[in-house]
Amino acid sequence: MTGFEIVEPESLEEAFRLLDPEDPAVRPIGGGTALMLMMKAQIYKPERLVSLRRLDGRFSGIDIAADGSGFRIGAMTTFSMLEHSPAIRRHLPVIAQTMKTLANVRVRNVASVGGNLAHADPHLDLPPVWVALGARAVVVGPRGERTIPVEAIFEGYYETSLANDELIAELEVPVRAGWDALYVKVTTRAAHDWPALGLAVSAELEGRRIRDLRLVLSAAVDKPTRLAAAEAVLRGAEIGPATLRAAGEAAVAETEIESDSRGSAAYKQHLLRVHLGRAIEALAAKRV
Ligand SMILES: Cc1cc2nc3c(=O)[nH]c(=O)nc-3n(C[C@H](O)[C@H](O)[C@H](O)COP(=O)(O)OP(=O)(O)OC[C@H]3O[C@@H](n4cnc5c(N)ncnc54)[C@H](O)[C@@H]3O)c2cc1C
Repeated sequence: MTGFEIVEPESLEEAFRLLDPEDPAVRPIGGGTALMLMMKAQIYKPERLVSLRRLDGRFSGIDIAADGSGFRIGAMTTFSMLEHSPAIRRHLPVIAQTMKTLANVRVRNVASVGGNLAHADPHLDLPPVWVALGARAVVVGPRGERTIPVEAIFEGYYETSLANDELIAELEVPVRAGWDALYVKVTTRAAHDWPALGLAVSAELEGRRIRDLRLVLSAAVDKPTRLAAAEAVLRGAEIGPATLRAAGEAAVAETEIESDSRGSAAYKQHLLRVHLGRAIEALAAKRV
């Protein structure tokens, strides 16, 4: 590994001065779990890493709105903090459920919410869950601030819409009464392996009728992707074999799934059909 500096700004203004919009060898560092792997593999050779750990205020903390309508989650919040937050466990149990097979406790103790999103690896477990929950990211930079749906961060395989000197500062996550969510991680080897397919579902059910839902596919595609056509089949429908089959076919038709080391495209399309139906049935079963 070649030499590089790590700096720890204490204010956003200082961080923006230390970041460089033009130079990819200067990057922010959150937990460092993804960056370190890339540096060890010599895929990434930094000159300067700008640590975000001394930026408190909006970069840290988990707060719930007084009326319980949503969370504000600082970008430097670690996965362990999320996993063990009583408020998150109560109002967004899908987060704790997702953590059960996410990496290991050492990674979860340092990996950050912001670094996870900015890494934009389509195999990551949490991004599709945030999208299914309707979360928004607050992005700050020297030219100002913008709040965007989490799905707008991702432009493709490891590609984001963030400029080099922009930072994810926090997430806004709604808590929607009557909605329930789950994440399905389909691995073809060990349970902790990278998924061949990830599927996040959040839905508002009335008995076996789906009032509204958000379906998000990951891992088998190059970025977390809403399954709009499958959602349209299911929205307003009664859950039953024919509807679930039609939704599975719509999902396969609307996505470009590619073959890789975790399975052929045809195999992953089959996984999508099967697991989409099972996920909807599992949500319905939770409500009875
Ligand atoms: C052994 C191991 C097993 C793993 N298993 C899993 C798994 O099963 N499931 C899973 O989902 N993930 C897994 N991961 C990946 C892990 O989730 C990511 O490495 C982690 O989420 C990245 O977060 P970080 O804070 O460490 O990011 P960093 O490494 O700090 O940064 C990643 C990228 O984000 C940028 N960045 C960091 N913070 C910000 C910010 N606030 N704003 C803008 N850009 C920022 C950095 O410049 C860099 O480009 C595993 C990782 C390891 C090492």
